[in-house]
Amino acid sequence: MCGIVGYIGNKDAYPILINGLKRLEYRGYDSAGIALINGETRTYKCKGKVSDLENFVANQDKSGNIGMGHTRWATHGEPNDVNAHPHISLHGHFTVIHNGIIENYDVLKRDLIKNGYSFKSETDTEVLANLIEYIYLKDEKIGVETAVRLALGKVIGAYGILVAAKQENNFLIAARKGSPLVIGVGEGEYYFASDATPIVEHTKSVIYLDDDHMAIVEKNNLMLKTIHNDLLEPEVKQIDINIEAIEKGGYDHFMLKEIFEQPSAIRDTFRGRVSERHNRIYLGGLHTALPKINVAKRIIIIGCGTSWHAGLVGEYLLEEYARIPVEVEYASEFRYRNPIINEDDVVIAISQSGETADTLAAIKLAKEKGATVVGVCNVVGSSIPRETHAGVYTHAGPEIGVASTKAFTAQVTVLTMMALMLGRERGNIKADLYLQMIKALSAVPEKIEVILKQADLIKELSAQFTNAHNFIYLGRGVLFPVALEGALKLKEISYIHAEGYPAAEMKHGPIALIDEKMPVVVIATKDKSYEKVVSNIQEVKARKGIVIAIVTQGDHVIRNLADYVIEVPDSHEAVAPLLTVIPLQLLSYYIAVARGCNVDQPRNLAKSVTVE
Ligand code: GLU
Repeated sequence: MCGIVGYIGNKDAYPILINGLKRLEYRGYDSAGIALINGETRTYKCKGKVSDLENFVANQDKSGNIGMGHTRWATHGEPNDVNAHPHISLHGHFTVIHNGIIENYDVLKRDLIKNGYSFKSETDTEVLANLIEYIYLKDEKIGVETAVRLALGKVIGAYGILVAAKQENNFLIAARKGSPLVIGVGEGEYYFASDATPIVEHTKSVIYLDDDHMAIVEKNNLMLKTIHNDLLEPEVKQIDINIEAIEKGGYDHFMLKEIFEQPSAIRDTFRGRVSERHNRIYLGGLHTALPKINVAKRIIIIGCGTSWHAGLVGEYLLEEYARIPVEVEYASEFRYRNPIINEDDVVIAISQSGETADTLAAIKLAKEKGATVVGVCNVVGSSIPRETHAGVYTHAGPEIGVASTKAFTAQVTVLTMMALMLGRERGNIKADLYLQMIKALSAVPEKIEVILKQADLIKELSAQFTNAHNFIYLGRGVLFPVALEGALKLKEISYIHAEGYPAAEMKHGPIALIDEKMPVVVIATKDKSYEKVVSNIQEVKARKGIVIAIVTQGDHVIRNLADYVIEVPDSHEAVAPLLTVIPLQLLSYYIAVARGCNVDQPRNLAKSVTVE
């Protein structure tokens, strides 16, 4: 959620930190701060954006070859200057930035108060800073590293931290449990960040910290240990992200860029996996788990937010084609309700970032119970792919906009491939149908290109709804989750209240909301429920609702009924979610922009939710 950057080497740390924080702005935050170390430690922090921090430090001493920076997403204490990170321990020995939550901070804080400590902020992070210092000062035989290690041993919760010590200021300590941390390896220098985006412009060699690992890093040396003091051999990996992928490239917003990237993102998701020529779908990452999946009694899909919606699409497709019973669960509910999980269950965990805290915890639970766990993630090398038995990367490229677009369609693409591949393996799809489906799937990127050409039309249409207070989204079957996703997009970025419903469910309540002011978006492409959806549109019109219908190209019936139509190319029903969601993304985007909302950084939201 929050962002961490750090640097140790021979260069000026400040520009690296401030640029790094800008690269991390997309994660969502409310305040920012930095510490620069140059013999002494100077910290600057304030509420607001990274640009506010930049102005704040404009005339300050910015020297130092060691430093750390933080963008905070408040969990404990309101967003203000004092609660912003870095936090300095009471006697000034330790400077700490932290991503995550120290769950037992209250108990630790009370103990520290008993031992003479006082606190400036309301954060859990300051408790950790003071705990490290308390342990350090209590016994002169305890050095900086040991103090950090012992303190972490007392902490319950999640953390990604960077720690600097006043008395030994030639190294930084990085540690993680539950919150991601990556270390970039340069020549006589190291970079630290909560994801690789601030690092890629400096180096492609990285070390991913694992849970309960800590690194003690000097400019020419890195020592990796567990927090139980066992020495480890660091594994340096190469990352494959280029700088263009994390810049806006001429678009007004990352979100718009990412909406327009969907044809190429989906082609990347297919690459090497779907072959019309060989009539074959092959997901190499599933290979080891296939024997288990093929005999699975049940598939449980877990995710949060948009990933949960992708999971719902997956449920329809997996049941239809693979003929395996599927349940879709919110990870946060699943993990806390003593779920029944058996050894012949397969759990599919979906997360763009691969760091979603609730999803990670749910995976651990499923593994404990003996289930086979498969990940569907976008960020290569993130925690979930490392925690699962098998998995499929979506390969959509970095998604910076907080409201997910291309990650969603890439997740749905993976689940569609999975459903078809399993359907074929299990003998439910005949060869000719399989080829037809593969063709339908392969044609999706081109069809999305056709839809994107209507962006101006959708922009024009969206101007009618700038002042709306509510929206209803309706869909049936595999398009019901698309209605949910459309409603979520609108809520997230325009702050207009929106509800997604199965179209037939409208009669059981929501129809009471419909009047001449209520826009109702109906996903009404030609499929087996088409006639029924037409009736649902009639019902809305009979109550004077404003219907915006997403229809199959050339549909004259609905054109005559609805107030507005947006056409998508004709396609097989199984791939309709991938097409019909595109106009909904654009509609939300243009409405939000017209309302003056900050589309890439919507209020209160964070990109990857690394706290529960
Ligand atoms: N729990 C810490 C705080 O509230 C860190 C939050 C974050 O991850 O940004 O300050």
